[in-house]
Amino acid sequence: AKDIGRRSFQFYTSTLESRSTRMLMQEQLLRRAVEQGELELHYQPQIATADGTLTGLEALVRWRHPQRGLVYPNEFIGLAEDLGMISEVGRWVLREACRQVKVWQDAGFPVVPVAINLSAQEFLQRDVARDVAEALWETGLEARYLHIELTESTLMQSGGQMSDTLHALKALGVSLAIDDFGTGYSSLAYLRRHPIDKLKIDRSFVTDVPRDADATAIVNAIVQMSHSLHLQIVAEGVETQEQLDLLRSLHCTTAQGYLISRPLPADQTQAWMSQHLHK
Ligand code: C2E
Ligand code: CA
Ligand code: CA
Ligand code: CA
Repeated sequence: AKDIGRRSFQFYTSTLESRSTRMLMQEQLLRRAVEQGELELHYQPQIATADGTLTGLEALVRWRHPQRGLVYPNEFIGLAEDLGMISEVGRWVLREACRQVKVWQDAGFPVVPVAINLSAQEFLQRDVARDVAEALWETGLEARYLHIELTESTLMQSGGQMSDTLHALKALGVSLAIDDFGTGYSSLAYLRRHPIDKLKIDRSFVTDVPRDADATAIVNAIVQMSHSLHLQIVAEGVETQEQLDLLRSLHCTTAQGYLISRPLPADQTQAWMSQHLHK
């Protein structure tokens, strides 16, 4: 029995060691990614459902891994949070989105806002409002062309500081959007408490319209509420013409999804904008 005890203890420590070694390796890899420019932003256009004009871009981060190819955020944002490195990634995303959109504006492309995503950990680990003020100052982008997307659970998780941070961002002139709207466990009270400008209807509802009557009723209710509260409204995950037509008929003013375009690297985003200018 003693032997087994010792053996299982050894097994336990060696598991711990390999786990911490693995974390260390991943941390070095991620650090290299940020420092050596392996991260990149892809941009997904948002359009007006009425006439198809470009209304904005959402920046989505990817990791161009030398061996593994393109790695998607669901595979490394959580890791970056566990490693305490999400602020490095987030600061890079913020800076790069502001820089790129300013370059496009200066080059005569449509002057539309860019949205970035911030996770709960970022609000907990850093002074987001200060970082945003710095990035805007350094890139020369006007605050109204930066939108920040956060989820309902981020609003709930981030405690008392959240309200101050959001008001500080508003004071800068940045616009705030609730991402994945309708999926979080939260009350609607935060819409009164926080200075929210925009709702993004979660893809899970959009996917099921118009065939599913309940999903359609929920989308309709969210759109109506957004109008009553003077909030902007975007439907995400629009994949079919049928969905787009229904959203337009429900007066959902803005849409984003594969039907319009997949998220594209910067050069292809620029090409997409050029084509849409001359339509
Ligand atoms: P999200 O903010 O809800 O972004 C929408 C996701 O849906 C993106 O996945 C996008 O590529 C995908 N998508 C867009 N249109 C469609 C569609 O029509 N159909 C389907 N099936 N999918 C569509 P992606 O780029 O893999 O990002 C996943 C999540 O990772 C994002 O969800 C966001 O929560 C997070 N994320 C992305 N970039 C960042 C970032 O810079 N910082 C942080 N903290 N999180 C990020
Ligand atoms: Ca988003
Ligand atoms: Ca979303
Ligand atoms: Ca999501």
